[in-house]
Amino acid sequence: MEFETKAIHSGFAQEEKFGATFFPIYGSASFAYKTAEDLSEVFEGKKFGYVYSRISNPTVTAFELRMNALEEGIGSIATASGMSAIATVFFTLTEQEDEIISSDCLFGGTYLFFNEIMKKYGVKVHYVNINDIDSWKKLINKKTKLIFFESISNPKLEIPDLKTISKIAHEHNIPVIVDNTVPTPYLWRAKYFGADIIVHSTTKYISGNGTTIGGILIDTGNYDWKKSTNEKIKEMSSKAGNFAFLATARSKIYQNIGFAPSPFSAFLNLIGIETLPLRMDKHCENALKLAEFLKSNQKVVDVNYPGLQVHKFHETGRQQFNNKFSGLLTFFLNSKEECFNFINNLKLAKNLANIGDTRTLVIHPDSTIYLNCTQEEKNLAGVNEKMIRVSVGLENINDIIEDFNQALEKI
Ligand SMILES: *Cc1c(COP(=O)(O)O)cnc(C)c1O
Repeated sequence: MEFETKAIHSGFAQEEKFGATFFPIYGSASFAYKTAEDLSEVFEGKKFGYVYSRISNPTVTAFELRMNALEEGIGSIATASGMSAIATVFFTLTEQEDEIISSDCLFGGTYLFFNEIMKKYGVKVHYVNINDIDSWKKLINKKTKLIFFESISNPKLEIPDLKTISKIAHEHNIPVIVDNTVPTPYLWRAKYFGADIIVHSTTKYISGNGTTIGGILIDTGNYDWKKSTNEKIKEMSSKAGNFAFLATARSKIYQNIGFAPSPFSAFLNLIGIETLPLRMDKHCENALKLAEFLKSNQKVVDVNYPGLQVHKFHETGRQQFNNKFSGLLTFFLNSKEECFNFINNLKLAKNLANIGDTRTLVIHPDSTIYLNCTQEEKNLAGVNEKMIRVSVGLENINDIIEDFNQALEKI
């Protein structure tokens, strides 16, 4: 099946009892069995069955199957948030004293997770310019357990060249983890460029309407876990074969920390996915038109959108994402006052901390999401006080441009 068809038909068949076309919300904490033998066999793994929704739940499974079909993976685990998907991957792949190599331009929450949680558990994070291979190749050693980056970094909008990065990583037997939140599987099947694990914040384009917090991780099947340098995963591979990562993640980390999403959240994500291809095309189209408008406006100092041909990462993005660049852009005015003034004069666009909604969203990252970051961290993330981030929505582009134009005229 093609992507658009899978987005609507994968993950579940029509429900049999009543013929419901959409998958039901199984709002049940636990699942009963007729006999003690039955339940025991499920616990022993001899028989498949649901036990307790912190471990797995049928509605959550439907969402996992659908996302897995879209990323063309071997399996996936849905989580309560994008952050808990990232945390599951990192806790599964690393032990105390291990090291990881990460791109230095990251979503703010991921920075905080690395600096406050991974550090506390004795894992060292090397921040690097991920496109500058020579700068991080020399950091690789026996303790290096993974390489991590965002496929379009939020909010700097840099685009790493995954093929080149994964080639080096795989030569050293290191798995590559890609946060594919901003392009989504519709713009990019990172599996075919060498990604081993893909993570998403489904809060954004996947759910699509800003209705729920959610995340997911997908094993693409590229990495041979029998060769893992993590002892626990290697051990698991004797039982679970190439599902060793997923089995370790679910049984040793996810269910024990309690990262499971609610079935209602999985239901909202399932609905969202059905229109993902349509929405992404429109987000991309509107973002390019808004970027072009901003570029031509006298009051705007600079515009950062990889869809613009002058953009540093336009060519990498064109090859990787089939000439589409998602719906995020940033632009720069002359001062913080001008940025605040602009935001306060908007009538249509919402001033809030999210992306990937149907609505057009703006935020002044320096005084909000990055408020507690050091100057150095802000520099790495490409954030300064003259910058506004826009998540371009699905309204008619003329209305979006008119709103931005009238707000710019007032500064
Ligand atoms: C939002 C976001 C996250 C975190 O996801 P939550 O659902 O907010 O926990 C991670 N990575 C990227 C690129 C994001 O935009």
